[in-house]
Amino acid sequence: MLHIDEIQNGIVIDHIKAGTAIGLMGLLGIKQHTGASVALIQNARSNKAASGRKDIIKVEGEYSWLNLDVLAYLDPNITVTIIQDGKPVKKEKPQPPRRLVNIVRCHNPRCISSIEEECEQIFEMSSNGKYRCIYCEQELTVKPE
Ligand SMILES: [Zn+2]
Repeated sequence: MLHIDEIQNGIVIDHIKAGTAIGLMGLLGIKQHTGASVALIQNARSNKAASGRKDIIKVEGEYSWLNLDVLAYLDPNITVTIIQDGKPVKKEKPQPPRRLVNIVRCHNPRCISSIEEECEQIFEMSSNGKYRCIYCEQELTVKPE
């Protein structure tokens, strides 16, 4: 883990619910992407958050490998800011995709996707805005790591 106060080129994931950034790192792909320069800021002051605290993740350099899709579903308050040459050039709220493919695993041990190794992990947004496993209908929940 690297300490980066101000990144020159990269991405800042801000307004993460305090205490959840570590759990998010696995889902974002940060744990698997060991060469990345990543700064994790926990319990930063926030005027927006009800708790008065937030977590922030900064990634220096290339970030196209990040699973940003998953963010919108997990925490709709999260904002993503692209930094180029030390300046924010784009700020956006990720939109939840209709489908999550091979991003998260089904937690149902009897699900075909848990049993068959070659089976793709596919979740689809249902009418109530929750993702469900397309094989067993198990609702996606986030387990802190
Ligand atoms: Zn399933």
